[in-house]
Amino acid sequence: MSRAELLVHKDKIIKNVKSLAEFSGKKLIAVIKSNAYGMGALNVARILEPLPQIDSFAVACVEEGATLRESGIKKDILILGGVLREEVDFLKDYRLTPVISDIEHLKAIEGCRLKYHIKYDTGMGRLGFMEETFEDPRIEGVMSHLSTPADRDFSLRQIERFRRILLRYPKAKKVHMESSAGVIYRLPFTTHIRVGLAIYGEKPLRDYPLKIEPAVSLRAKLLSVKEVPKGHPISYGKTYITPRRTKIGIVAFGYADGLMKSLSNKGHLLYKGKRLRILGSITMDMTVVELSDVEAKVGDYLHIVGEGQNFVDLARLAGTIPYELMCDVGERVKRKVV
Ligand SMILES: *Cc1c(COP(=O)(O)O)cnc(C)c1O
Repeated sequence: MSRAELLVHKDKIIKNVKSLAEFSGKKLIAVIKSNAYGMGALNVARILEPLPQIDSFAVACVEEGATLRESGIKKDILILGGVLREEVDFLKDYRLTPVISDIEHLKAIEGCRLKYHIKYDTGMGRLGFMEETFEDPRIEGVMSHLSTPADRDFSLRQIERFRRILLRYPKAKKVHMESSAGVIYRLPFTTHIRVGLAIYGEKPLRDYPLKIEPAVSLRAKLLSVKEVPKGHPISYGKTYITPRRTKIGIVAFGYADGLMKSLSNKGHLLYKGKRLRILGSITMDMTVVELSDVEAKVGDYLHIVGEGQNFVDLARLAGTIPYELMCDVGERVKRKVV
């Protein structure tokens, strides 16, 4: 029934997980923060949970973890964003595992019987302890994060710093640093990889040495098909004027659904693999495309992502990163697993 839907292709997600596990030789901590990058956290978690390659999940905050638990997710859930004092009861009630990256987080969990991971800032310049190490039997894991995986020299310096810190944690059961892009370093001293983007089928680097397949498609229905005369303005601000008589389609997908306005007069949507130009300004709920060469009818689906176009392509065109586009897929877009 939905006019716009985001389809998560289960078989492709599973293939990508296998590919990541095989390439790294490690189990995955699957990052499903921010509603699994907009792809639907519960849907994705339910696909991933039974897979032997999935060790656990990671989300940004306690609420995201609690929601997954309430929906029946059983594997460990790591809270990447640490823990604030008022959240400690949640942690315990929902069996969540915090990443501790500030002395205040540590104080917040004083006296609590829970395991945690400790995070180091080896050059990311965001969360993480700088140097100080701790002796605490509750420490299950030690982690760090690469800021610029595409910069080899810098990443190798981060990696070396992390390796030195790890000498102080010989008993850590889980050690993790590699994100989707970071897996290219194939670190010999980590036990897990901590990945999101590649699971969803988007390549984090141009030359990515693993086989990753698109796992998501995003499509919306045509609301109207019509011909307009030569010289007719299209959409707000009349930024496109038809140079000739033109068949146009109006699709039920706008910037509120995640099609960034900066793609106005720039991007393409797809119909049966054919590229349809976006004409004029993208509006909140609708976008106009050129239909001159195709036989699409009202009610037919056009693809925003899929049929050869992925979030990486759109992001490049919009001057952003795929992560942002994915997180921007609107709430009214129906998420489905197929
Ligand atoms: C989001 C995030 C990841 C996952 O990154 P991908 O590029 O999606 O694989 C890993 N670690 C941390 C700390 C993150 O915030």
